[in-house]
Amino acid sequence: MLVYRIAILGLLTFSGLYAQTGKTVFLITDAEGVAGVCRQELTDPENAEMRKLLAEEINAAVRGFFAAGADEVYVWDAHDGSRSLSALTIHPRAKLVMGSLGPTMLMERKFSAVAFIGQHARANSSAAVMAHSYSSMGIQRIVINGKEVGEIETRAALAGWFNVPVILLTGDQAAANDLHEIVPDAETAVVKESLGYYSCISLSSLAAQNLIEEKAQAAFQRLGQIEPYKIEGPVSIEVERTTRSTLSPDRPLPPETERVDARTLRFHGKDFMEAWLRWQGN
Ligand SMILES: [Zn+2]
Repeated sequence: MLVYRIAILGLLTFSGLYAQTGKTVFLITDAEGVAGVCRQELTDPENAEMRKLLAEEINAAVRGFFAAGADEVYVWDAHDGSRSLSALTIHPRAKLVMGSLGPTMLMERKFSAVAFIGQHARANSSAAVMAHSYSSMGIQRIVINGKEVGEIETRAALAGWFNVPVILLTGDQAAANDLHEIVPDAETAVVKESLGYYSCISLSSLAAQNLIEEKAQAAFQRLGQIEPYKIEGPVSIEVERTTRSTLSPDRPLPPETERVDARTLRFHGKDFMEAWLRWQGN
């Protein structure tokens, strides 16, 4: 009987690790949108200055979310191979998500909200610090249903598929604009103004942290008023690679996928998720 009880207890504890019973915020973190990060070498995951700037901004957002009543905050190290964050420097009450995630990015766990921290604008934006879409080495542009997009739109749509709203973005003005185009009510903390790809006017890290904490708190207080972003109806996702990532002509393609030209594939789906999984599985 005792063994049985222990087993049940173990099961409950185990499943408790996975079910989001309270209000959980999922932070997607990146480097190019952090205050004081405006040169390529600062985005190296080994760069000590960037690691500190990024961790402090994340922790400011975590403080804001907890102050506004969040029960849990997950922080996903989503920049360049997931090597920029450390359990030593993350807010003591936050949980660190390390490594690459599957195509649904844990969204099936029904988080209460998603936030982008240190986010950059989509590729081919002007006046946007280090604007790119996923990989400046591998991808030239991504187009969904005829509109150019980046990580902000694709990940917001993925969260929206699971009814999860994006409530906050921190980054430069261009990244904030990208989110506001699709989620007009989201809070944004603009920590720098871009003057070009590698030039900007940045807030100090402390000023950025204060702004981010305040905006995170405001965003969480408005939970329920900020709509999830959904792309309705059939979806096509066109992915144009860079010249150095030109496709092999004999590469097998998933169903409902067109080869548009030597560097471009177009994935079709009856809805966003079908097209998304075709791209991600390719
Ligand atoms: Zn990125």
